[in-house]
Amino acid sequence: MFDLTGKVALITGGNGGIGLGMAGGLADAGAKVLLAGRNAEKSAQAADALRTRGLKADTIEADVTLESDVAHLFQQVMLRHGRLDVLVNNAGTSVRKPPHELSLDEWHHVMDTNLTSTFLCSRAAHALMKEGGAGKMINIGSMLSIFGAPYASAYGASKGGVVQFTRSVATSWAADNIQVNAVLPGWIDTDLTRTARQQVKGLHERVLARTPAGRWGIPSDLAGIAVFLASSASDFITGTAIPVDGGYCIS
Ligand code: NDP
Repeated sequence: MFDLTGKVALITGGNGGIGLGMAGGLADAGAKVLLAGRNAEKSAQAADALRTRGLKADTIEADVTLESDVAHLFQQVMLRHGRLDVLVNNAGTSVRKPPHELSLDEWHHVMDTNLTSTFLCSRAAHALMKEGGAGKMINIGSMLSIFGAPYASAYGASKGGVVQFTRSVATSWAADNIQVNAVLPGWIDTDLTRTARQQVKGLHERVLARTPAGRWGIPSDLAGIAVFLASSASDFITGTAIPVDGGYCIS
């Protein structure tokens, strides 16, 4: 039920953090994983690390905020691998400032990276998955899809948008046998949150105090949900937003 042998999975921002944690899970389950990011050297190192473990990995350079890069990305997927079964819309960023200090450029940067890229990649993947007769899309939201934070107006708006986008396209594409779900990670130790802990005083301790599991998450904590949502085990599940947070959102 969880076997992904023969499947091709594209993970945006798959060269580090949560994306690489999910890619590792998908590859362990048998999928060939394609890591897409802007930093070609970081992607090459991540793919090498997976191949060293005997897993199948390839890299494609792309800035997923650019329509032309996204078109090239999906062309490369088909040229090199001939099919696409799973898309993980994971690339993301944040600018941490009070809303009244945020510039329009900063607003657009966050919205383009987190939300518009999800639209662009999902639209491109839909055409290929419909043609292939099936597909799985996994969109990465956040605890800030649910909660507010004084430093996260653009980030929260983009991640709330990811969940509503997920629900809309799930209804639209169910008839094409494409399931679309969102994952809401709790606080996971990555480059993104290492910067957050430097910029937001007391964040590390507040997260520890509120998380029933009593720890920060690690990228491999997201591997299991990726496999579940990419596999036939989740064929009747679509449009959901599943927290993976050590209990943060229920405490
Ligand atoms: P990282 O900063 O470690 O990873 C972000 C990834 O996104 C990088 O691999 C980066 O690769 C890629 N990326 C950023 N911008 C672009 C772009 N324009 N085009 C292509 N790739 C891009 O952060 P995380 O692993 O923490 O975050 C991954 C996702 O999880 C994000 O969507 C984030 O919002 C979300 N999230 C994270 C949480 C956490 O606690 N860490 C909690 C909740 C959600 P490159 O630089 O090569 O482009």
